[in-house]
Amino acid sequence: MEKRKQIYEGKAKKVYETDDPDLFIQEFKDDATAFDAKKRGTIQQKGVVNNKISNILFNMLESKGIKTHFVKQLDERNMLIKKVEIVPLEVTIRNIVAGGMAKLLALEEGITLGEPVFEYHYKKDSLHDPLINDYHARALKLANQEELEFIEKTSFIINDLLKSFFDKKGLILVDFKLEFGRYKGKILLADEISPDTCRLWDKETRKKLDKDRFRRDLGGIEDAYQEVLRRVTG
Ligand code: 5GP
Repeated sequence: MEKRKQIYEGKAKKVYETDDPDLFIQEFKDDATAFDAKKRGTIQQKGVVNNKISNILFNMLESKGIKTHFVKQLDERNMLIKKVEIVPLEVTIRNIVAGGMAKLLALEEGITLGEPVFEYHYKKDSLHDPLINDYHARALKLANQEELEFIEKTSFIINDLLKSFFDKKGLILVDFKLEFGRYKGKILLADEISPDTCRLWDKETRKKLDKDRFRRDLGGIEDAYQEVLRRVTG
């Protein structure tokens, strides 16, 4: 499968058309941004690592019955995907307080939540991906009720699957962001699942092994991503 016209360039990925009208190629870049792209940088080999990790996680989820846009890994940086229409929602599930939730509610980072917290954010950088609820999503016609119910139910299942997968690898899944897309009348899990989109802490030391090392200038970012790759392949 060959790349044709580039149709989109995001902060971490490029998307290309292919000869097949139903399929796209997504290419993972080393570029890293944070705080609505006010902070920019490069994480060496991030694209390669995130492509591999996403490949492993999409395969694992598919094997457990989750429908995703993943078709196959083409090479180091490229993944063949179904041509979904992205639902403009960022779904977040939180198992432990961190990041946006710590800030919003003035909570200490690291508190284990009694139950997972599910959030919708409107996917709009110019508004800083604001927190919304299902009423906003319906009123703004971002998705209909049936789609929202499916997205919510599927996200909780994905949380359980990812939590237990990472736990076996000695990693705590603190929180993560998912995106979904429409394909031939169905909703599929889309985008990527990687240390860019998940907070992952070492189970023993609670060391951060994700993009927070970049966001917060903690150093050792490349090593952290390689460590996650080692753990998920091990
Ligand atoms: P928070 O809302 O705390 O900033 O993010 C919650 C979780 O979702 C974190 O794991 C974070 O990495 C992920 N996340 C939220 N928004 C984005 C985004 O725009 N891009 C990426 N890569 N991850 C996001």
